[in-house]
Amino acid sequence: MKSDADIIVVGGGPAGSAAAIHARQSGLTVIVIEADGQPRRRPGETLHSGAASILEQLGVREAFEHAIGGRYGSIQVEWSTARSSDRGSIPLAAASGFHIFRDKLDAVLIERAETLSADVRRPCRALRPIVRDQEVVGVETDSGPLEAPFVIDASGNGNWFRKSYPSRVDVLSPRLLARYGYCRVDDLRDFGSPSIKGDQSGWQWIARVSDDTLAWVSLALPGASARPVKPTALAALADVSPTRGADVTWKRADAYSGPGFFLVGDAAFQLDPAAGHGILRAMMSGIMATYQAAAAIKGRVGPDEAAQLYRGWMAEWWRRDTSALTEMYLRLDATWDRSSSTREHHQSEAGA
Ligand SMILES: Cc1cc2nc3c(=O)[nH]c(=O)nc-3n(C[C@H](O)[C@H](O)[C@H](O)COP(=O)(O)OP(=O)(O)OC[C@H]3O[C@@H](n4cnc5c(N)ncnc54)[C@H](O)[C@@H]3O)c2cc1C
Repeated sequence: MKSDADIIVVGGGPAGSAAAIHARQSGLTVIVIEADGQPRRRPGETLHSGAASILEQLGVREAFEHAIGGRYGSIQVEWSTARSSDRGSIPLAAASGFHIFRDKLDAVLIERAETLSADVRRPCRALRPIVRDQEVVGVETDSGPLEAPFVIDASGNGNWFRKSYPSRVDVLSPRLLARYGYCRVDDLRDFGSPSIKGDQSGWQWIARVSDDTLAWVSLALPGASARPVKPTALAALADVSPTRGADVTWKRADAYSGPGFFLVGDAAFQLDPAAGHGILRAMMSGIMATYQAAAAIKGRVGPDEAAQLYRGWMAEWWRRDTSALTEMYLRLDATWDRSSSTREHHQSEAGA
């Protein structure tokens, strides 16, 4: 079989770039296909404290420190339920959380992959996987076909993979819609730490992104009468961009890996932003998938075992994240359906 590289990665966000960097660090050849010509702004500007060691491992810590818009050392939490009201602060060791615009983070990561001689092709769009004898052997792109022993889907929630591969995405929460936006701020004193406020109608998150910009995200719980809106604490601040919406319903691919492929980051599963570490999970799953692909290419494990090890690792991550979120939502809203995240096929979006 002709191969254009050891691995083809679709998507140059945090998951795809981390996969590509780790591939090069492991001595593998890699092609990254990214649909956007340049990194662009998108939500996900608050990085969990665990990100520092992953960024170090990827060799971007110094470039990242130059690109950040600030650090935080705690998160302010305010929870009001029908029975009680709690207010407190979750401290982090040594101001270890970060704020960064996504175009800057994505640029730092993809430039590192390019420095390590990953073949980054942008703009280039993956159209469908090339499947032979039920094994994924490459990607049909808008610039022609590419073949490799492994394809890593890091395309976020676009789900291009399902267009030809008979897989399915399970929908495992009620429909959740987040609204988000950005405001200009002159005085950051009231917004030194990120904050989350929740009650029976939903939650609101506020965090700085840079010295003069705040990001907010708001989510209404199913059945709440109010729509998610800009937090009142920011009402007097000028908007930097129009309010946008994102469908953040919990979704999971029925197979995180299989013959010739791995799904990483949001392409594997998407949770709502209250999970708090989508970027960290994206980078770590990119590294883990490449680690398993490299082990299979170098003959340390069989391809089936590599795929199975990855699936088990991601399944455990899903279980932990969804049980933490479920506990949180049950506290706010006693009617939240505890069973939905563990139900096998709550509702399926069937693939082609
Ligand atoms: C409102 C909101 C707020 C959030 N806040 C946070 C936060 O504060 N902290 C946090 O950790 N997480 C946050 N998240 C979650 C976080 O944004 C995601 O988990 C993260 O972006 C997933 O990274 P990824 O690399 O998997 O996908 P993405 O970041 O979506 O990257 C996918 C890439 O693939 C490319 N692509 C897509 N389709 C194709 C194709 N067919 N061909 C080629 N390229 C393609 C896209 O252009 C993109 O560059 C938030 C999410 C939302 C919706």
